[in-house]
Amino acid sequence: MKTISIVVPCYNEQEVLPLFYEEINRVMALIQDEHPDTDYELLFINDGSRDQTLLKLRELAKKDKRVRYISFSRNFGKEAGMYAGLENARGDYVVIMDADLQHPPAFLPKMYNYVLSGEYDCATTRRVSRKGEPKLLSWFSRKFYKIMNKISQTEIIDGAQDFRFMTRPMVDSILSMKEYNRFSKGIFSWVGFRTKYIEYENVERAAGTSTWSFWKLFRYALEGFFAFSTAPLTISSVLGIVSCLIAFIMIIIIVIKKLVFGDPVQGFATLICVIFLMGGLQLFCAGISGQYLAKTYLETKRRPIYLVQETEEDMRKKSES
Ligand code: UDP
Ligand code: MG
Repeated sequence: MKTISIVVPCYNEQEVLPLFYEEINRVMALIQDEHPDTDYELLFINDGSRDQTLLKLRELAKKDKRVRYISFSRNFGKEAGMYAGLENARGDYVVIMDADLQHPPAFLPKMYNYVLSGEYDCATTRRVSRKGEPKLLSWFSRKFYKIMNKISQTEIIDGAQDFRFMTRPMVDSILSMKEYNRFSKGIFSWVGFRTKYIEYENVERAAGTSTWSFWKLFRYALEGFFAFSTAPLTISSVLGIVSCLIAFIMIIIIVIKKLVFGDPVQGFATLICVIFLMGGLQLFCAGISGQYLAKTYLETKRRPIYLVQETEEDMRKKSES
């Protein structure tokens, strides 16, 4: 018997949960028809939702033994949700997918076959279009992947998603990375393993709204830069060296002008410009070092990645007693 754990991070997903539940069961039944030795569990992570998500999850867990859930004490973010899901999944295979049906369950049979074939350790989807997304956002996303892949050793595939079908060894490898500042797109790629990319067109949300504002995505992108590359540190050192060189050349020119041509030293305006430029460069570089220092500070605190308030086991125990 093989078990597939389906991990679903949920944040304010009361509207889509019933749709998702219905669709996933339909698809899993198809998989079971094809592979009768397969069972599955649904592991929902309630990431501190402010709506009725937890109530919906309790209801589902009550009527369906396959449904499990972990409810966080507050919103910890999707990265924490995925980590909690991987940590608590009991299956031989683990799937991570969004609740909003933007990761179509219809891909699961295909993904399962790729993994079962033994040729791949992971099957994932890759968006080839960004249909339905604001133009400006798509542009920034593409630029992010371009820069990221230039400055980082870890390759991050444009359009790759968190929709993944993984084998146990890959899951355990991901869990062995216990960093607090998690950037999954980098982590998936860093651990390696043979990954199959299935290309597809972007699908829009089934219901509810996306919680990823432009600003949130921008911060996430920065998180990626700082977590998977130290190139900004190198860039700031190079900037420092280059401006020192320029200053040195300027000093020589001024001295020669004064001694050889007897030019009076002049240029109040240029001086101000240079002071501003240098001041700006220094702050910029200090800021970059500060970012890394801040990340190190957070890592050394060794805070838990998430805190659990309630699980389906608690609920079942309570209803028994
Ligand atoms: N999500 C989460 N915690 C958060 C934000 C989002 O667990 O703080 C979940 C959300 O419920 C969904 C998935 O992450 O299942 C993707 O979120 P969303 O659809 O808002 O993002 P998008 O598809 O626009 O990237
Ligand atoms: Mg979505």
